[in-house]
Amino acid sequence: MSAAIKISDAEKQVNEFLERTHQLFIGGKWVTAASAETIDVENPSTGQFLTRIAAGNAVDIDRAVASARNAFTSGPWQKMPASQRSLLLYRLADAIESNFEAIVLLESLDMGLPVTVGRHVDIPKAIEWLRYYAGWANKISGETPLASSGVTGFSFTLREPIGVAGLITPWNAVFLMAVNKIAPALAAGCTCVLKPAELAPMTALFLGDLIAQVGFPEGVVNIVTGLGPVAGQALVDHPGVNKISFTGSTRVGKSILQSAAGNLKRVTLELGGKSPIVVFADADLEKAAKAISGELFFKTGQYCAAGTRLFVHTKVFDPLVEKIVTRARTLKIGPSALSDSEMGPIISQKQLDRVMGYIDGARAQGATVVTGGGRIAREGYFVEATVLTNTRADMSVRQDEIFGPVICVDRFEDGDDLDKIASRANDSIYGLAAKIWTRDLGTAHQMARKLHTGSVIVNGGGGESPLPFGGVKMSGMGRENGLEGVLSYTELKSVAMGF
Ligand code: NAD
Repeated sequence: MSAAIKISDAEKQVNEFLERTHQLFIGGKWVTAASAETIDVENPSTGQFLTRIAAGNAVDIDRAVASARNAFTSGPWQKMPASQRSLLLYRLADAIESNFEAIVLLESLDMGLPVTVGRHVDIPKAIEWLRYYAGWANKISGETPLASSGVTGFSFTLREPIGVAGLITPWNAVFLMAVNKIAPALAAGCTCVLKPAELAPMTALFLGDLIAQVGFPEGVVNIVTGLGPVAGQALVDHPGVNKISFTGSTRVGKSILQSAAGNLKRVTLELGGKSPIVVFADADLEKAAKAISGELFFKTGQYCAAGTRLFVHTKVFDPLVEKIVTRARTLKIGPSALSDSEMGPIISQKQLDRVMGYIDGARAQGATVVTGGGRIAREGYFVEATVLTNTRADMSVRQDEIFGPVICVDRFEDGDDLDKIASRANDSIYGLAAKIWTRDLGTAHQMARKLHTGSVIVNGGGGESPLPFGGVKMSGMGRENGLEGVLSYTELKSVAMGF
């Protein structure tokens, strides 16, 4: 089959999906929401209506949690060998592969992800993660401490599934986040209720069809769309939920932590960031410039770990900035469904106004806009990739997470020691990721320890599934990905036997 035919098949599939009356996925079936209220979903590349979803409320969440609880305590899921759970996850990965182009297209229409990014990053990554977690399902184990081998007893630990997991996801990686929460929860033996973001929920709903198709028992995965303060809050408040895994803003993350205290739910929070990039004089400038400009426009800057505060050694400041600016000026910005668009839109008018507010505010406070700085006059929510210099550490453009394609570039001097450079990089309430560019191993190792972040990326490394991911400070608590990610859906039980 030619690529052209495949793509038009995907378009047909996506159009049919969008035209459906979208319901809630509860107990393995699409069901009508308790209220007739709906939420309109836009295509951010056009600003036009895309489709309409059900506005789930507390009654729907209650139904979904009951379904997940029932599946956890008495359904076939409980008795299923771990290898069978693993197989279902592998089958889900295969089903995603079979619907690859449709998911890529749907993601581009719904969240504005350029199809090229969907094809090469988000959707392949979702498949890779699913298979990675499928592999863990039958390898989770406890420990037998050496001291337990005495003659009077035997002690060991068990890793048991935590129960019903409430999974709340943002709009900037709809499909990838949905998979990345469901997969470790199921690998650990939990059941779950997913509440995707109301701004872009469509590929999470599409996943519901695939989950039903591959044969997960009823109620193991439930998907409820709705507003954050309504459906999301009801999930966080629900006494039948044992764990909340939340990815989103720090503001909502903090309120979730308070609400979860009701029944002492386990909580994992993956929150915002304002990641520093430090470029030393000996760095490979070509590679660094390519990666830094790539980060600037990747997902239109709507990316939690985006490097948005750049500190460059004064000797290489001008050439590096020139390379980044040249790239930003040649960037193809356009509707995300077009194959040659490198940068798509911002998710909404509100978010675009917010990004512009930061740029205009910085300008008014004396920052220099080296390139970009403007809205793009066309339908949809487009902004230029923006490079700012002459910003100060106390400006909001340097302190707040903007979630747009805006980078602040600053320099450090020849005599600055690593402590001084690190303290400037650490001058943020956030601590998600930090990036370093140097060819000096000693500098890289020392800086990696001095930076107060959950991840440190040296010379553009990373991207491996087994590496845990998460933040310190206001960037969150707990870790996703890797074995840590799976274990976060388990409780540790100690068993001490006497003879
Ligand atoms: P958001 O906090 O506004 O919403 C995230 C989710 O929470 C949505 O599903 C929303 O409906 C829900 N929600 C809102 N209010 C709620 C409430 N009171 N109770 C329960 N749920 C509620 O975030 P967003 O704007 O969708 O996403 C952008 C944010 O996500 C950025 O701050 C970004 O850094 C962060 N993010 C972090 C990571 C990470 O891994 N650290 C990854 C991606 C995005």
